[in-house]
Amino acid sequence: MEHALQHRERVGVQDFVLLEDYRSEAAFIDNLKKRFKENIIYTYIGNVLISVNPYKNLPIYTEEKIKLYYKKAFFEAPPHVFAIADNAYRSLVYEHREQCILISGESGSGKTEASKKVLEYIAARTNHLRNVENVKDKLLQTNPLLEAFGNAKTNRNDNSSRFGKYMDVQFNYEGGPEGGHILNYLLEKSRVVSQMTGERNFHVFYQLLAGGSPELLGQLKLQNRPEAYKYTTDLTSPQSQKNADADQFRIVQEAMKVIEIGQSEQQAMFEIVASVLHLGNVKFVQNDKGYAEILSHDANSGNVADLLKVNSTKLREALTSRTIDARGDVVNTPLDLEQAHFARDALAKAMYDKLFSWLVTRINSSLVPTNSDSRSSVMGILDIYGFEIFPKNSFEQFCINFCNEKLQQLFIELTLKQEQEEYLREGIEWESVDYFNNIVICDLIEARHKGIISILDDECLRPGDASDASFLEKLTQNLDGHAHFKSHRKVDSRTQKLMGRDEFCLVHYAGEVTYSVGTFLEKNNDLLFRDIQSLMASSSNPIVDACFKDVNLSSKKRPDTAITQFKNSLNELIKILSSKEPSYIRCIKPNDNKAPMTFDDKLVSHQVKYLGLMENLRVRRAGFAYRRTYDAFLERYKCLSSETWPNWRGSPRDGVQKLVDTLKYEREEYRMGNTKIFIRFPKTLFETEDAYQLKK
Ligand code: ADP
Ligand code: MG
Repeated sequence: MEHALQHRERVGVQDFVLLEDYRSEAAFIDNLKKRFKENIIYTYIGNVLISVNPYKNLPIYTEEKIKLYYKKAFFEAPPHVFAIADNAYRSLVYEHREQCILISGESGSGKTEASKKVLEYIAARTNHLRNVENVKDKLLQTNPLLEAFGNAKTNRNDNSSRFGKYMDVQFNYEGGPEGGHILNYLLEKSRVVSQMTGERNFHVFYQLLAGGSPELLGQLKLQNRPEAYKYTTDLTSPQSQKNADADQFRIVQEAMKVIEIGQSEQQAMFEIVASVLHLGNVKFVQNDKGYAEILSHDANSGNVADLLKVNSTKLREALTSRTIDARGDVVNTPLDLEQAHFARDALAKAMYDKLFSWLVTRINSSLVPTNSDSRSSVMGILDIYGFEIFPKNSFEQFCINFCNEKLQQLFIELTLKQEQEEYLREGIEWESVDYFNNIVICDLIEARHKGIISILDDECLRPGDASDASFLEKLTQNLDGHAHFKSHRKVDSRTQKLMGRDEFCLVHYAGEVTYSVGTFLEKNNDLLFRDIQSLMASSSNPIVDACFKDVNLSSKKRPDTAITQFKNSLNELIKILSSKEPSYIRCIKPNDNKAPMTFDDKLVSHQVKYLGLMENLRVRRAGFAYRRTYDAFLERYKCLSSETWPNWRGSPRDGVQKLVDTLKYEREEYRMGNTKIFIRFPKTLFETEDAYQLKK
């Protein structure tokens, strides 16, 4: 048998707190890499799980593996997402503490896969319970359905979630899943009308075209080729991809059945999907006055009108003119070509976005527990976009990175709080740790009056000559001198990088990001011309009708801007999460090529930095590296003292005291808490473990 020490050399330590040199990032990465090379993708920092995407199927999710984690404490089995799930489940069901599992990491790092594993584990773990099969089935089937509408192939991930998702699973008093609820965040709707080279639109478009029956496609007036539609032409797919899309379409239809989305609702959904495709093909011509016009025999706009059951003349008018109500004077102004394209794309994006939100609401109504009682409790699972730093960053990255600042803030508060509370519970003196608190950055972004969001909204609401440029000007005026804000006027003294005239830079906790202000105002305003809105409200497609009719057209009050809506829903989320006990899964992408067995040190180092892992480890190691309940410690090591072997008759605490006396632990090396022994240095534990391995 391999000696414990050799084993450690080969596969590293399973908990980073056991790393001798815990301040060294190189040692940290080396440990991850060693394990990765051995196909061990999971490692702990205390109770935080680090997961490195293997980009290949490993035999670690089998039924036997699932069983291995039933009712196990962390150290009793190798680190695993199932261990996180099991611990959360037990705390929820047996100790009645509400749980949330927060999954973070950059695109392609394995967040969504991890969240599915959590659900699958919970489903298996509750197999013995009656009357929950149906609910479990529904919960699991929400994934393929939401992924069809909310995921797309990107250059980073073939199945990239283009929305943030928080899902509550509700459990009854027996611990069986009885329902659920999903909150969705910021669907990347710009993808509906254009995609980067090598990327695709949302899966559902291709799935419908490849997998829809001839009758269905006939009704929807669609050809079965994505190449025929402007919104889906960017990437020509090989036949194998079309087959996969067709197969997936059947899976999606099956999922709809399970979730009880009936035939007529499905039909209405696909009518909208088809309308979006037709809309993309609508052609505008320039008339002799220089304005945009749609020819009356244009089949595409005709198809949209037919499918959505709106008046086709009115649709053509709405796409080529707009009515402005200027203090009671109603004026109809024609649009030029550019404006007409803008209006058309805005409608396509709005329809799809609303369809997606409708779908989430519809799924939620199907997940409402049938006979819930007051003793039910909730486990939340958050799968949301990680920090984004691209060569060019815009409004979307600003929103996403703001979200990550907020989650980091929560992480800091909760891990420190958790740590402090455990010391308190165990009656051990707390040794304070200093750490970077990113609340200054959160404030810079969301503070009232002087925060970036507030300045942006002011510009959006200001009538007259407000523009992206004037927004940047206001930012600079108000925030110049802030430690985390850099204006375009200043050259970065360290990097000597010259910022563009339309850029500003934020020093996020994860690093500097330069944002281009172009389109900030437009995206934040998120306007859909009134005429289009009211036309859509006249549709007799039940979903379109439901989505557009509650927009109160006569209301003079402006709806909240995009960023304010996002900020509010984010603060709502933080409130929900703060009331629960968190578990963390931090996902890491080992390379940029979706390749197995490839570990790019530089790429990983970057992620270790912006996930704040070194800081996390430092906090965890600030006091005692290692802790274990007296029972468990005694059970494992009792063979190391003649006083405790073979059976200790006294209290576990006294037994452990006898043990550590025999092992000659120094006073500085450990503390005895109320239920646990705390060990300061990994070396101490390793020596004990080595002695145990020799004796065994
Ligand atoms: P994210 O949600 O973080 O963007 P995903 O969870 O979609 O990333 O993972 C991207 C891809 O990586 C998956 O489609 C899958 O091919 C692969 N992958 C992720 N996690 C695992 C895993 N645990 N085992 C095997 N493959 C994985
Ligand atoms: Mg994802």
